[in-house]
Amino acid sequence: MNARPKKSFGQHFLHDRRYIDWIVSSIAPRAEDFLLEIGPGEGALTLPLLAAAGKLTAVELDSDLIPGLRARAAAIGELTIVQADVLKVDFTAIAHRHGVPRLRLAGNLPYYISSPILFHCVEHAAAIRDMHFMLQKEVVERMAAEPGSKVYGRLSVMLQLACRVEPLFEVPPEAFRPPPKVESAVVRLTPLAADALHDADPRHVYAVVKAAFGQRRKTLANALKQLLDSDAIRRADVDPKARAETLAPADFVRLAKVYGSLLQEPAGQ
Ligand code: SAM
Repeated sequence: MNARPKKSFGQHFLHDRRYIDWIVSSIAPRAEDFLLEIGPGEGALTLPLLAAAGKLTAVELDSDLIPGLRARAAAIGELTIVQADVLKVDFTAIAHRHGVPRLRLAGNLPYYISSPILFHCVEHAAAIRDMHFMLQKEVVERMAAEPGSKVYGRLSVMLQLACRVEPLFEVPPEAFRPPPKVESAVVRLTPLAADALHDADPRHVYAVVKAAFGQRRKTLANALKQLLDSDAIRRADVDPKARAETLAPADFVRLAKVYGSLLQEPAGQ
């Protein structure tokens, strides 16, 4: 217990019982759930989750933490620890291997890679029932932002196309050891049915959103010119003079579909 937290692994261990209880009751684990925790650390969330669900799989990168965690969990339930970088963990394969339709993910995430982890989860959304994550408060605000907001961007659109995004509550720095320099918040993500993309290819959506927000001060005609000309943008029912931050997630889906249809047309047509 109480190993020296490693900054390079984004280790800020939760110690405030009230927030731990609040997170666990938001998850409301049940014995039939397949729970997967990202970054169990010393077990602040792992042990109460394990007590509630009886079994849990946890993915931890730092091998130094694993023996202690295993020892603390032994009397509580069946803990499987995967020592790995979560970005390399195939959630879909885990669900298949265990014959469960969908996983329930949870974690007080390492903030230095929170966006890559979120995008990784979105790629596996079909194998996930829900996710409860502690993140930097500012990241949660970006995830939940609406069109027109200053913080609405790539993360908002990609997350909202894949999931319902529900910010739950904020957590102050003092709840962690050591306290992070930023405020934190817990968010619930519930993957939407796959048809939320209306058959658009996710890679095309990603390309259009990336280009549109890559130059967010420019009009779409300018920002998207490598992908779509003004006529094509109009065909998606979008104004080429608009800026990315004013578009709803569904507008990007229509742009991606037009982009996909152009890619299929033989060159020169
Ligand atoms: N869940 C614990 C808690 O709430 O006290 C620890 C949370 S701490 C913010 C983040 C945890 O993620 C650490 O245990 C860290 O070692 C682990 N971690 C960092 N990078 C990781 C990665 N790429 N894959 C898996 N775990 C990682």
